[in-house]
Amino acid sequence: MNSKHFKNDHLSFSRLQRFEQCPKSFELHYIKQLNSEPNESLRFGSLLHKVLERLFHWIIEEEYAGKLDEERLVNLFREEWPSSGLSGFALYEEGLSILKSYLRETPIIDHRDILAVEQEFRLQIGNYELMGFIDRANRIDDETIQILDYKTNRLIFTREEIDTTLQLTVYHLAAQKLWPWAKKIQLTYYLLRHGFQMNTERNEEQLDAAKNYILSLAKQIETAKEYPPKLNTNCQYCDHRSHCPAYQKAIEGHVEIIKSSPDDLEAVAREREHVANLAKILYARKAELEKILKAQLEEQETLELAGMVYRMSHSKQVTYPVEATLNVFQKMVGINEQEAREQLLVVDKAHVDTLIKQLGKSMKRPEHQMLKAELDAVAETTFTPRFYSKEAT
Ligand code: SF4
Repeated sequence: MNSKHFKNDHLSFSRLQRFEQCPKSFELHYIKQLNSEPNESLRFGSLLHKVLERLFHWIIEEEYAGKLDEERLVNLFREEWPSSGLSGFALYEEGLSILKSYLRETPIIDHRDILAVEQEFRLQIGNYELMGFIDRANRIDDETIQILDYKTNRLIFTREEIDTTLQLTVYHLAAQKLWPWAKKIQLTYYLLRHGFQMNTERNEEQLDAAKNYILSLAKQIETAKEYPPKLNTNCQYCDHRSHCPAYQKAIEGHVEIIKSSPDDLEAVAREREHVANLAKILYARKAELEKILKAQLEEQETLELAGMVYRMSHSKQVTYPVEATLNVFQKMVGINEQEAREQLLVVDKAHVDTLIKQLGKSMKRPEHQMLKAELDAVAETTFTPRFYSKEAT
């Protein structure tokens, strides 16, 4: 089959997204029609989606309002786990812990606030019909709805990514069609691993630009004659990576890098992005290989392979008890206690976040939110220069 078979009358959002992210992946998936390779991250994401989908379908069917039931959620997870294709106690525990923390963040629910779960949409854009699914739509008030998409990414999105991603813009267009009474549409990525939501909105200008962009992508799909690989940070999750020559070459280290002249800044930038992507791919591959070895090290203390010895070590962490340490400084150097406190005691964000999370189990939600707001108000933020790069749109 070749690309002329693509009429794109029914253009799925996932097809569009795949072509946008990497034409080679599009070719392997839609033109060569290869089966997707098993991918733990995708399966894990699908499992959590399925559990939440079933939970919210049940809430609608039973017209339930009240506290979310942990036992029900855990049972749904147990029921879905065998068909997920996943294995390993650590992953099972992680899934359960994510869902339990979701429950703590969403203690009360009312079926009347849920407009739809796993809602299909079809949008006419030019000559194309674009279709996709929305994870959940909620009614916020008589004028406002929230479109919610669950994400299981480890990395948190940047504000710029949330404010420009095509996926959420398409959801806005779909929501306008499905719920025309809504004057305001809030778009949300629910980051399940991190237990919080990132919200954004779209304006008319962005919606028009997105329609033009979709038309242009759809045409590119129909006229493409070549499907170049686009090595990127998501290659490690690509469901066709074992059939992708560029990825295979990258992990074997056989990639030609044309060294650019410092006078040619365009070439320097291109080489920088190429090398950065290769480094991330290799780093991800290293993590994948280490995971296999670490699983073996759960069974035995050391592994000796290919001239190397592997074992798990425990990194040393030293902490000083506050009062005793201040006393030593006072006694030995004569430094006054207040001065020593100010110099030494900084409460780091990771510890504050852990304590806030623990307190969230016993506090009421409004008080817990107040605590977070008060702590945000006293927090001091410092900025250190950091090299930043992002693909231009
Ligand atoms: S591994 Fe990367 S470059 Fe290869 S097809 Fe997949 S996304 Fe594209």
